Amino acid sequence: MGKKRDYRRTILVVDDEEVNRRILGMIAEPEYEVIYAENGVTAMQQIRAHASMLSLILLDLMMPEMDGFEVLESLRNDPVLSGIPVIVLTSDHSAEIKSLELGAADFLEKPYDLPEVILARISHSIALSENSRIIQATENDALTDLYTREFFFEYGHQYDHHHSDLAMDAIVLNFNRFHLVNELYGRAFGDRVLKKIGGGIREIIEEAGGIACRYDADTFYIYLSHQQDYEGLLKRIQQGLSELLQAPEVRLRMGIYPDTYRSVTLEQRFERALQACNSLRAQFGAAFAIYDMEMHEREVYSARLLEDFEEALKNKQFRVLYQPKYDIRGSKPRLCSAEALITWQHPEFGRVRPDAFIPLFEENGLIQKLDRYVWKEATLQIKNWKESFGVTVPISVNVSRVDIYDPDMAEYIMELVEENDIAVQEYLLEITESAYTDNSRQIVQVVKELRAAGFQVEMDDFGSGYSSLNMLTALPLDALKLDMAFIHNISVDNKEMRMVELVLEIAEFLGVPVIAEGVETVDQYELLKNAGCDIIQGYYFSRPIPPEEFGRLIRQETEGQERIR
Ligand code: C2E
Ligand code: CA
Ligand code: CA
Repeated sequence: MGKKRDYRRTILVVDDEEVNRRILGMIAEPEYEVIYAENGVTAMQQIRAHASMLSLILLDLMMPEMDGFEVLESLRNDPVLSGIPVIVLTSDHSAEIKSLELGAADFLEKPYDLPEVILARISHSIALSENSRIIQATENDALTDLYTREFFFEYGHQYDHHHSDLAMDAIVLNFNRFHLVNELYGRAFGDRVLKKIGGGIREIIEEAGGIACRYDADTFYIYLSHQQDYEGLLKRIQQGLSELLQAPEVRLRMGIYPDTYRSVTLEQRFERALQACNSLRAQFGAAFAIYDMEMHEREVYSARLLEDFEEALKNKQFRVLYQPKYDIRGSKPRLCSAEALITWQHPEFGRVRPDAFIPLFEENGLIQKLDRYVWKEATLQIKNWKESFGVTVPISVNVSRVDIYDPDMAEYIMELVEENDIAVQEYLLEITESAYTDNSRQIVQVVKELRAAGFQVEMDDFGSGYSSLNMLTALPLDALKLDMAFIHNISVDNKEMRMVELVLEIAEFLGVPVIAEGVETVDQYELLKNAGCDIIQGYYFSRPIPPEEFGRLIRQETEGQERIR
């Protein structure tokens, strides 16, 4: 089975005579990426431009403008460039000593030898220089004596280079919730645990062949000769641990990208192994997962969504739907505002739900663009309803955790509202609770700024994160929006219902209303109403609907009112 090597080294050929460049190119191109320069000056430009990826330079000595000696001299004086090995090309025996003194690694005599000899000397020089670089840098993780993450991929490429026909697995091993071990038993004990895992991995790679590193605190990357029995592998690593830890506390997760194709890069193979490992997040106890078709399809699907984003935005495939919120404090529920929710009508996949693309866009920063689009649509909608019905329906928009990092966000929203003649009280912002816990300082500052300008901020998905009571009292906010998961399971006097009651008490203490979303049934509605919940959103009243349809709800609601509320 012929496997493609994914890593081709780059070399630079410097010679003023075209015929010489051609000859060397013909010899080297099957094995290397080759770039060229026709004198010392352009050579230095090329070297500077490609320094980080240049594996070797083949350098003619006699050239116009700037000759080979001068190039060697400049390289030697540069701390970064001096690491690139140079083979000097010369027909003059006496120049050899001088070039070696100037730091050349080797020389090739003109007229050239057999191509095989030239290739062998090139690869020999590269190997020597790479090995010495590996020895110089901090190669090993002090705790486990495995490679460091910086080294792992470099060494991995070399490993592939020298064992290009070995079948290899990319494996990511993670200790789930390792911080608990540190917290319960102290860091010194945590270190012993990691050491033990490292020891187990070392034994395995020594026996089967491969390399490994500690990628970060509790994650290990293992590049191992292809295995049949992953369960056995996991058990072996685990066994070493059971001397230290009680079995139920051991939560090793292993993600595997088995030797399938090397047509994807080493880095990509580990990314896929990591994806397989992350798919086990919710599981308890030790487990492994192999990257499979389903994960691959998800990866391809995600890549497509990312690729199609700009086009979709341009072609108005994103639509904003509105879901009503009803104030239930009075005798009869009153429409009091709407939440703007995005959907994507994809020409090929049909309707794509936000859960499929929001997290993806958050990773890639596209969310900022999308959210700005939604925010703008929402302001236009408020204006539009005001003109059509003579009433204002306040709209709440979602603010992603990523938006918080955008220094211009607050200003953008303020301008939007101002431009469209909308009162700040009519524009509400929903920020998910976990964003507060992720980055509390930044968020507190942004939210303060927005509130100072008059906007109201609702804490979304409340109960899904880990805000402490202490923190809540310090946080600026105007409403708590209960996480849907509670509502889903409430019934008289059960655990979820007591949670809801607790949140209502907290809200009372903070002096803010509580919004319950995801309310679907009349039973849920009554339970919440009796408990003293203020505002309800959910299928019980309506799904998120297009603005035209929403117009009907407004008409139903208003006869002669100035403003909904
Ligand atoms: P969210 O902010 O918690 O929004 C409420 C979600 O619950 C919406 O899902 C809504 O359709 C759904 N929902 C409402 N009532 C019910 C109900 O009675 N039962 C059930 N089962 N579900 C109900 P959707 O539209 O799929 O949005 C999912 C999430 O995507 C949102 O959760 C929000 O976090 C995010 N999202 C949606 N639009 C945007 C946006 O424009 N920007 C950002 N950053 N995130 C958005
Ligand atoms: Ca929301
Ligand atoms: Ca929510």
